[in-house]
Amino acid sequence: MSESALTCKEIVELVSDYLDGGLDERTARLVDEHLALCPGCDAYLDQMRQTLKVLGSVTPENLSESTRDGLLAAFRDIRPPQPKG
Ligand SMILES: [Zn+2]
Repeated sequence: MSESALTCKEIVELVSDYLDGGLDERTARLVDEHLALCPGCDAYLDQMRQTLKVLGSVTPENLSESTRDGLLAAFRDIRPPQPKG
């Protein structure tokens, strides 16, 4: 344990930067290490990635009402992981 591990709360805060590639190398590695050990955060990252992918393919022109409702539902379903203890 030479470096301080990240908490689940910190992962949640860092995840969008992580997906954007906006983290420095050291922080990104700490995130990787946490994800490898924490199924909750791993699933959370996966949901975020899916959602961003959907958002990235949507433009206002093709954003139908049903698509928008689906996105809102997807966001509602995303919950930060609950650390045990
Ligand atoms: Zn975690």
